Amino acid sequence: MRLVIAGGGFGGVYTILNLKKFLLQRKDIELVLIDQNDYFLFKPLLDEIVVGNIKEDVAIVRFEKLFKYMNIKLLRGNIGLVNLEEKFLIVNEKEKITFDYLVISLGATTNFYGVPGAEEFSFRFSSLDEMKKLRDYISNLDHKETIDKLVVVGGGATGVQLASKINFFLRKIKLKKIEIILIEKGKRILSNFGDRVSNKCYDFLSKNGIKIFLEKEVTEIGENYIRLDSGDIIEKAKIIWTAGVKPNLPKIVGNLQFNRRGQIVVNRFFQVKNYENVFALGDVISFEDINVPQSAQAAVKEAKYLAQNLKNIFTSSNLKLFRYYHAGDLIPLKRFYVAANIRGLQFFGFLPWLMWKIIYIVRALTWRQRFSLILNFFRF
Ligand SMILES: Cc1cc2nc3c(=O)[nH]c(=O)nc-3n(C[C@H](O)[C@H](O)[C@H](O)COP(=O)(O)OP(=O)(O)OC[C@H]3O[C@@H](n4cnc5c(N)ncnc54)[C@H](O)[C@@H]3O)c2cc1C
Repeated sequence: MRLVIAGGGFGGVYTILNLKKFLLQRKDIELVLIDQNDYFLFKPLLDEIVVGNIKEDVAIVRFEKLFKYMNIKLLRGNIGLVNLEEKFLIVNEKEKITFDYLVISLGATTNFYGVPGAEEFSFRFSSLDEMKKLRDYISNLDHKETIDKLVVVGGGATGVQLASKINFFLRKIKLKKIEIILIEKGKRILSNFGDRVSNKCYDFLSKNGIKIFLEKEVTEIGENYIRLDSGDIIEKAKIIWTAGVKPNLPKIVGNLQFNRRGQIVVNRFFQVKNYENVFALGDVISFEDINVPQSAQAAVKEAKYLAQNLKNIFTSSNLKLFRYYHAGDLIPLKRFYVAANIRGLQFFGFLPWLMWKIIYIVRALTWRQRFSLILNFFRF
């Protein structure tokens, strides 16, 4: 019996880790992980790479190392097709991998919403390579005479924390001539986080010199400019796009259901419609009856339930209904300053920052990663 995990991010990796003990006793189950990379990427650390707070190898853990004592087949390649009817995937355009059970956990990718020039001319914020490109660009900004602004598009958590961290980084390297602008199409930044967090972060960014444009939509991006729906053009600017994501799905043959954002609709056992042997979790899904945010936090919780349900299927037990509990959100804005929204209570400053650091250290997947994060903790 073959169980294939398509995608080794938060959803896929934590599903495997939760199955670890069980699979040691079930030699009849062949486990296969397919990913385009040979490592797990801890995405919440990506902005720390951009501003040079951590090296890129701290944010990754090689699958080989992570699953060292497991009987798992690791396949590196791009999944181009999933056929649910005939139970196979096509990897790297030619390799056919069959499955009895499939977990789809392919995450999300940048959504440019068709804005002309956005894909071609802006930095996106999703992969390690993109982060390295952005880091190298920012670190060498003083040599770029044609640019005096960095424009971050998207006032969600990613855009806000990135704008803030880059702003402090530029000050640290004494590059004050670069102005940071944050553009949000809604009435306020961090609209999902409650008024107090939203207002306080707005004040924090403004006081620190970041210009915020609210209720402005981007209509075009060029090599060194951005055009807004108001007709304004911001020139001598390089753009960082954080405004949206869409599910990262290859062609799927099968009669499953998608929502209007293109996410796979699953029931609370993570089964996709019409295929009881096919499961999905993380950023690619939407539940038919509850709302769960697209986050690492949610994917890790989902993975725990999904692994339990896979065990239940393999032992012919009843499936367990997923229940989501949102612990809260932390938005790091600079060293020693984090905005937190936990169980409806809001905190700002050093204590949430400490909590944020400790969570990452505890959550590290290997001792090497943990040790690097502890070292980073004491770096001033
Ligand atoms: C910059 C950034 C910061 C974030 N910060 C936070 C945070 O602070 N807190 C939080 O809770 N969430 C955060 N998130 C969101 C969080 O990272 C995602 O919600 C989470 O990673 C979703 O898990 P996943 O398993 O669905 O996808 P991912 O973790 O993205 O994993 C998808 C995997 O699929 C692989 N893959 C994709 N397509 C293919 C293909 N065609 N073939 C083969 N392999 C493929 C990828 O290589 C990847 O390993 C952040 C995201 C980003 C981009």
